[in-house]
Amino acid sequence: MTIAGSGSRAERIAALAFDYDAQPKTSVSRCNLCGGSGFVGLTHRDRYGFPAPAVCCSGCGLIVLDPVMTPAAYGRFYSGIYRPLVSAYHGRLIDARTIQDEQRAYAVERGDLLEPLIAGRGYKTLLDIGGSTGVVAHAFASRFNIRGTVVDPAPLETVEAQALGLETIEGLIENVALGDRRFDVVMLCQTIDHLLDVSGTLRRVRELLTDGGLLFVDIVDVRAAYLRNWSIEEAIKIDHPYYLTEATVTAYLRRTGFDVVRADYAADHLHVSYIARPSQPDAAALPSRESVRELLREVRFVQNAPRP
Ligand SMILES: [Zn+2]
Repeated sequence: MTIAGSGSRAERIAALAFDYDAQPKTSVSRCNLCGGSGFVGLTHRDRYGFPAPAVCCSGCGLIVLDPVMTPAAYGRFYSGIYRPLVSAYHGRLIDARTIQDEQRAYAVERGDLLEPLIAGRGYKTLLDIGGSTGVVAHAFASRFNIRGTVVDPAPLETVEAQALGLETIEGLIENVALGDRRFDVVMLCQTIDHLLDVSGTLRRVRELLTDGGLLFVDIVDVRAAYLRNWSIEEAIKIDHPYYLTEATVTAYLRRTGFDVVRADYAADHLHVSYIARPSQPDAAALPSRESVRELLREVRFVQNAPRP
């Protein structure tokens, strides 16, 4: 792959010759969270400089890319361009090998968070959706003595997971066939922002979880992402179709049948983790109108006020 490190960030990204314009895309007509059809355009370019507009649902405050690449285009993106692109952006090599140290540290930290909720429950199976190289699933499987399964669309990463003795299924969770299998723990680690259908996936996760099971999911809090850089564009990237906030992810979980039993701000001040148990879906759960107005006000302020 191209070793990022020479030239400016823009030159390194240009050297990958990824033609975002030419990728097949679909436009967003309905909000994936509330079903509304009113949107506010927020940005027109992403952090890489690609023409990838992001919009905010005026009904619930969900921020998404619109238009968004098709599942087939994202499939190709993850098998070839994703890690080189992130490497070019950061100016250092990030691949299926180099990310493992970071993933090991993450597994220890998140494992400490989950331990009191997993220990002694007799859980036997774990599904890691978007589980990448399997480092996190493997650490959890060893620590909690459960069998681990990884679903991930990137073959270079699932091959690493296989080497750790995990069951691997290559593909996007939206497409893979798991039949009537059930899992005691389902994890979406740094994955939900990459999904193409968050509602559909969370409903599917609800079906995949055993009755007393546990869901772990973490988000990049888009508010944290734009406030730290004082730029909305810097928070937008084609790898993330979704940009969640505490208000929108909580509504998603309640609507798809989960009760949050624990939330945790990660040490990086960017990710927020949620541990949830199955409950009755609350189809009416949505962020308040006031929270949507506040979000849009804050976005405008970041776009127009000098960086503090
Ligand atoms: Zn909405």
